[in-house]
Amino acid sequence: MPHPLSQSVPIPKPVSLFHTIKSDSFDFYSEIGYSLYMPAGAYRFQVGTIRCTVLSDGYFSYPAAWFFPGADPEELAAALENRRLPRDRILSPYTCLLIETGRHVVLVDTGAGAGLTTSGAIGARLEMCGIRPRDVDTVVLTHAHPDHIGGAVDERGRPAFPNARYVLSDTECEFWNSPRAGLRDACLPFDVKVAMLETARRCLQALRHQLEAIDGENEIVPGVRAFPAFGHTPGHLALLIASDGEQLLNLGDAAAHPLHLEHPEWHNGFDQAPAQAVLTRRCLLDRAARECMHVMAFHFPFPSLGRVAPRPAGGWEWSPGW
Ligand SMILES: [Zn+2]
Repeated sequence: MPHPLSQSVPIPKPVSLFHTIKSDSFDFYSEIGYSLYMPAGAYRFQVGTIRCTVLSDGYFSYPAAWFFPGADPEELAAALENRRLPRDRILSPYTCLLIETGRHVVLVDTGAGAGLTTSGAIGARLEMCGIRPRDVDTVVLTHAHPDHIGGAVDERGRPAFPNARYVLSDTECEFWNSPRAGLRDACLPFDVKVAMLETARRCLQALRHQLEAIDGENEIVPGVRAFPAFGHTPGHLALLIASDGEQLLNLGDAAAHPLHLEHPEWHNGFDQAPAQAVLTRRCLLDRAARECMHVMAFHFPFPSLGRVAPRPAGGWEWSPGW
């Protein structure tokens, strides 16, 4: 006999609900604040005429020393305590960016896939936004670290987005595929470096027929440009989304924690060329502050959006929000 609740409670159909929001009832929901109807872990906003949605793939808890290996331990502990954050662990979000231009569906970074127990939600987040894997025509990988490329390949080892071209820099592609690729200057345990290398090579191999390696600055689709922001990895990219006078700068991993803004000299243990990464970070933040850009950073607290402004004491201040 069926459970009594199964007869009396209607089961919602999220897909048809989203079709309703996106089509004829869109204006109605816009007027009353349609972001209320976005699923948890998603936040939608406009950059001019371009619709953007940040999507949480999950998070991972890292030892604090991996994020700030060069910081003075006492200064770091005080900075974390001031923010009521744990001293020894960094709970780091993974936030991908969905860009819908009307003609193109672009996903920037794919999360970690099934590699971790606390991540791998990107497919579900997209589905709840009404986007099927086959709808994505472009995937941009800011770099090939596991938390960015892991979700590009499904559990069976095939491209997770079957119709997409996968864009990353040619330098990044060459680096990870080189037999001499090493992570000498990254301040991480050896087994972590080995796992990163293996994941990048496995994913790039699986994606090889759909890869588009770009050289220098490129327009990915109208309104979306990728440009070199090297240092975190040899071919790390940042993105600029621009439309109707509005600009969003996606830093990728050029800064991995708001403390990297206040202390830009505190490099990230994952930075493969620490000095270059710090220089890149300063250039990007200086530009973002000067041009009053909206900023997105993959590992910043969700929804990973905000603005930056110079601090009198040096570095930059992070003001979260849109
Ligand atoms: Zn990352």
